[in-house]
Amino acid sequence: MRDPRYDLLFEPVQIGPVRTKNRFFQVPHCNGMGHVYPQTLARMRGIKAEGGWGVVCTEEVEISPLSEIAPHHEGRLWDERDIPALRLMTDAVHAHGALAGIELMFNGYATPNRYSRDIPIAPSHLPVRGSDPIQARTATKRDIADVRRWHRNAALRARDAGFDLVYVYAGHDLGMPMHFLSRRTNRRSDEYGGSLENRARLLRELIEDTKEAVGDRCGVVVRLAVDQLLGAGGITAESEGRDVIAMLAELPDLWDVNIADWSNDSQTARFSAEGFQERYIAQVKSLTTKPVVGVGRYTSPDAMVRVIKSGIMDLIGAARPSIADPFLPRKIEEGRLDDIRECIGCNICVTGDNFCVPIRCTQNPTMGEEWRRDWHPERIAAKRSERSVLVVGAGPAGLELTRALGQRGYEVTLCEAENDVGGRLRFESKLPGLATWQRVVDHRLSQITKMPNVQVLRGHAVSADDVLAFAASAIFVATGSRWRHDGLGRSHREPWIDGASAQVIRPDDALRGAKTAGPLLIYDDDHYLLAGALAERYARDGVVVHYVTPATKVSEWTEQTMEQTRVQSRLIELGVQIHTAREIASVDRTGDALRVEIACIYSGRREVVSVRSLLPVTMRDPDDALYQALVTRSAEWADAGVQEVHCLGDALAPGTVAAAVYAGHKAARGFDVIGHQRVEGDVARAGVIDVGRERGGARGRPQHAGDEARFVGCGKAVSGF
Ligand code: SF4
Repeated sequence: MRDPRYDLLFEPVQIGPVRTKNRFFQVPHCNGMGHVYPQTLARMRGIKAEGGWGVVCTEEVEISPLSEIAPHHEGRLWDERDIPALRLMTDAVHAHGALAGIELMFNGYATPNRYSRDIPIAPSHLPVRGSDPIQARTATKRDIADVRRWHRNAALRARDAGFDLVYVYAGHDLGMPMHFLSRRTNRRSDEYGGSLENRARLLRELIEDTKEAVGDRCGVVVRLAVDQLLGAGGITAESEGRDVIAMLAELPDLWDVNIADWSNDSQTARFSAEGFQERYIAQVKSLTTKPVVGVGRYTSPDAMVRVIKSGIMDLIGAARPSIADPFLPRKIEEGRLDDIRECIGCNICVTGDNFCVPIRCTQNPTMGEEWRRDWHPERIAAKRSERSVLVVGAGPAGLELTRALGQRGYEVTLCEAENDVGGRLRFESKLPGLATWQRVVDHRLSQITKMPNVQVLRGHAVSADDVLAFAASAIFVATGSRWRHDGLGRSHREPWIDGASAQVIRPDDALRGAKTAGPLLIYDDDHYLLAGALAERYARDGVVVHYVTPATKVSEWTEQTMEQTRVQSRLIELGVQIHTAREIASVDRTGDALRVEIACIYSGRREVVSVRSLLPVTMRDPDDALYQALVTRSAEWADAGVQEVHCLGDALAPGTVAAAVYAGHKAARGFDVIGHQRVEGDVARAGVIDVGRERGGARGRPQHAGDEARFVGCGKAVSGF
């Protein structure tokens, strides 16, 4: 039962002509699905409505080919033929009593129109965002009239598609109204340029047009970036951000407040605390009588109640918390706070959009797989037999596998060699800013602890003899991986340093807090976050750090999680000496000193860095000795009562935490579904059946429609682990 302290969260809110059922509002968020995967999208959004979100919105939805953002998969509402695909979503959302919102988008100079090849338009001549060699042209009055007409027509189509809320989008520096608003992009001298009133004219007109078109049926929402975090040269909350809200305060039915650009709005936990935007949201709330929604990565109902009671916002906006736990509202309503799967703020979800594939989530392995694999975040098929399972290794993969098998009802024993569970996360969550990553462990452990059919054995290192003697029907080996310390990796196909040297710090030891007096050279050939985070930690400890990478940026892959700029800025602030586009050419030891020659990857020009310690972060080896030992003894399995042995997660192929959690979940879903699985890790593909093909939902127009492939087998995924 719901705690009465949270009743406030379940009050309805009037938004123009429509009323929410509660204050839980899934704000628009990209997902790598869009118009390409309409079934996938509809199922994902529908599950959020089922999970209790009172409002479920789309991602950005293009209103015209003059504003398309290919190859990214966003929504499309170019004409009537796009309505059926979007209707899939509104039907799925309405089926659970939630309101459906649509974020209409005209990208302006924020897209090069790579697909349509139409010349983008902007308030003034301007190179498009990014690095495409394309310039947007100055919008004529006729162009502006066209944009207004397209937006109005899209609003009418949105209404006909069943949407209850229609957005006018001026957020994140992406929507054209924002480009007109900001002096940085608007150099016009007509009635759309110059004064703030003139620069806000397009935004005002779009709001008025939308209200006139659909305001009797739909709430009209404005999403506005009230600060570009660019100082006086841009929109700031202290000046024009505040003034434009004051100017338009009562015009929309709801204000959705954010800051620009997206990387500022959706900062990771490493760089921002929950609720870091509260001061911006509160300011808007103080300037309007209309309801206000904002985001803050809130996962605690106490924090949600606080922001509403203190008058910061009226609706709890969420993108990431709704991705990590689509059933977050329902769990609060049912008093199941322990079951909430809290977002860790890692932004792996953003990578799906960046790579133009369906969204994925570290905490929620079902995200993006709701339709393709028919995975539900809360439901899973019951066990099909009385078979017992032994899982070896309590890292992210082993924990998720154990949790999901336990949920299915199997008798599971989870065996961990260390006294603490969590595997790699025991150490990675201790790195600067990564404490929330521990939630991956905590959530699973709290669930497992409630399961009478699961036992956890800690401090229990096992050999192949032990495993076979245990006589479980199925054995899953999830023993993780170890970082190499000899330099082998992407750039060097041969070891280039004696990893046994006392001057080499092993990454696994660094993760456990190994000290050095420095100077220290960290070589990053991994490119995700570890080397950068270790550089930060050592620098904070006062060590002189040289960070060397063959990439052109620090922690290059963190661009995909929208952190790269912040990672590099932080290392610069901490005085880390950064050597990008540099390769290790040679290492010579003289006494206690290491003379490291680094070479420019373009010119080959060399320079010398003298240090006392070297920390190579290059690649990991699977820690699969137990699995390999079991494979060599497969002839003994039958006598031991063992039917199958699997290797998964980092022990099969090291990857992200998200990949390990996904592997654990997938293995649990596939277990006992097609009977005896093959021994090798990711090879049991025989069960992949019925690869359906659907063209663009209900229309079948190639330039709009995508192909969706669905893997179903008895309603579950049955491909390998
Ligand atoms: Fe949160 Fe990370 Fe999941 Fe995104 S991927 S929703 S940031 S846990």
